[in-house]
Amino acid sequence: MAETTHQFRAETCKLLNILTHSLYTNHEIFLRELLSNASDALEKVRFLQSAGGEIRDPALPLEISITADKDAHTLTVSDTGVGMTEQELIDNLGTIARSGSEQFLREHESGEKPGNGEEAADGEDTIVEHDDSKPDDAAQIIGRFGIGFYSVFMVAEKVEVTSVPATGDGTAHRWASDGTGSFTVSAVEGAEAEALHRGTVIKIFLRSDAHEYEEKFRLEGIIRKHSNFLPFAIQLEGERVNTTAALWREPKFSVTKEQYHEFYKFLTYDQTEPLDVIHLAVDAPVQFNCLLYVPGTKVEAFDERREEWGPDLYVRRVLIDRHNRELLPHYFAFIKGVVDTEDLPLNISRETLQENAVLRRISQTMTRQILSHLEKLATSDPEKYEAIWKLHGRYIKFGFDSYQYRDRIAPLLRYATTLDKDKLSSLDDYISRMKAGQNEIWYVAASSLEAAAVNPHLGQFRRRGLEVLLLTEPVDEFALETLAEYQKHPFKSVERAEAKDLEPFADVEGETKAAPLTEEEKPELDALIAAVKTILGDQVKDVRATTRVIDGAACLVSPDGMTSSMEKLMRVMQKSEGIPQKVLELNPDHALVRDLMRICRGDAEDPLLKDMVSSLYDSTLLLDGYMNDPLAMAERSMRLLKQTADMYSNLRK
Ligand code: ADP
Ligand code: MG
Repeated sequence: MAETTHQFRAETCKLLNILTHSLYTNHEIFLRELLSNASDALEKVRFLQSAGGEIRDPALPLEISITADKDAHTLTVSDTGVGMTEQELIDNLGTIARSGSEQFLREHESGEKPGNGEEAADGEDTIVEHDDSKPDDAAQIIGRFGIGFYSVFMVAEKVEVTSVPATGDGTAHRWASDGTGSFTVSAVEGAEAEALHRGTVIKIFLRSDAHEYEEKFRLEGIIRKHSNFLPFAIQLEGERVNTTAALWREPKFSVTKEQYHEFYKFLTYDQTEPLDVIHLAVDAPVQFNCLLYVPGTKVEAFDERREEWGPDLYVRRVLIDRHNRELLPHYFAFIKGVVDTEDLPLNISRETLQENAVLRRISQTMTRQILSHLEKLATSDPEKYEAIWKLHGRYIKFGFDSYQYRDRIAPLLRYATTLDKDKLSSLDDYISRMKAGQNEIWYVAASSLEAAAVNPHLGQFRRRGLEVLLLTEPVDEFALETLAEYQKHPFKSVERAEAKDLEPFADVEGETKAAPLTEEEKPELDALIAAVKTILGDQVKDVRATTRVIDGAACLVSPDGMTSSMEKLMRVMQKSEGIPQKVLELNPDHALVRDLMRICRGDAEDPLLKDMVSSLYDSTLLLDGYMNDPLAMAERSMRLLKQTADMYSNLRK
């Protein structure tokens, strides 16, 4: 039997050296690589067959089988695929394949990878050899790549590949190597050749540290994890492992609702039925199939420790990346599913996925499809859309920061309003109910619907029959401020309402307003303001008469004009605690303020005035969500009570 010996090319040696000496622990991916090669080989037979070509043993089923021999410590992966001729064995397994491995080396040599800048600068010999002091380098690099056939040398001390081409005279050849400098190729003859029908048998002599790959349960786990959806049966010790069909590749009409749900459960372990499924098969501008689910439960995509969201990425049914975040924008982070494309090489690196043009195009197409799906749903099945909004609106609303799609996100926003706090309205609904002459879309931002309801600015709106959006999440106000307007109607916080904004609208309940300040009273107001400044000192930035419309005697505003909810958000982000120094605005139309003016006229130093002003300040703080010194507050309120009780009982004597 003639045997020829061949030297591996230099770059192959380098790659093999990295692989065999790597401390990289994820050795199991070798099986994924072998199985995908087998699947490719079977695909080629199917193609030859469908093109009407002659192939050997046409009755032989298209499948992959895996057997292990625990005594000999060997693992055998065989397929009935297209096989390789002698020359193909030399060419395909002797040099680094065009796709993954070559890219692996190129990127490795170019020095773009983190942590290996110096090594890469050396020109010719730029591969990072394994270095025990820096085991992570090789590990990281290998982890990012699929490295094709050669990855088998992470677990093998010797490999024999025996192959019978599907076409031609049926001569079998064997390629063998220990993964160091060379490989041999020889013809297989006699009884051994008789036993071979078609395809390739890869016999792996496992390294002593890789005996785990003789274990059936271990192999089964790897197959399920990486290769579960290959389109050909994988027989492990005679039993079929991959039974779940790649549902996303099936034509839509042939998939039942139950199958969709089954697959969702398989994918997410979530037992709740998904609210919706989007199943797409796209050929242009980029080829991909996807199956996207809107979960029926709340999703925590932005965990404190890690961000785990995005569909799983498959390339020709092989799992490439779990939770790929390039595939969808963050405002669709609640969507789960799988995407499968033919337009990427199987051995693409994770690194490259990040600026990959194919992924970008897939993402664009899916984003637009999801948007139109939601848009359609919002009109055709508003109840279902509302259910989706209630669970996932907190993600969707973040679309306000998408420059490209914010105009399509805005109509999808839903808010409770003062009309009915238990019902959600779209901005279009709100506009359709606007009063004649109303231009602004009014909103109030608070920490809850209950807190919004007691906002001191709201009464004026209620009495004028002006509807107000109730925003309860910090992002809401950001979103509206960024959008600035909707259908030419500017968004405006009720805290910023000025008297002139509300004048055109009749006060339907006819609020009893104090008579306007007389000329003599104006200086009294100024005197009160001065007294309040003295009493509150540096607890407030300033004291002034308000020009806003409020129901209460006073309100707090930010010196820089921020709304209170926005300010709170900033303070959380800046981690500032304590009570903010704000501007106290007094409402001169309020009876309490008129009374205080009179008390102040009598004696600006009156201790009762002091307690009253401090109490007034406390209650504005409370409405703003802050609690000043509660002990001082309680004491003061006791003093006030006592005084009032004294006065009242004296009156009744
Ligand atoms: P890639 O799959 O990216 O081309 P690999 O290193 O995985 O790179 O494989 C190199 C080449 O070897 C393949 O392109 C194919 O031509 C050949 N090959 C590997 N395994 C098989 C197989 N089981 N049957 C037929 N050809 C194979
Ligand atoms: Mg391959």
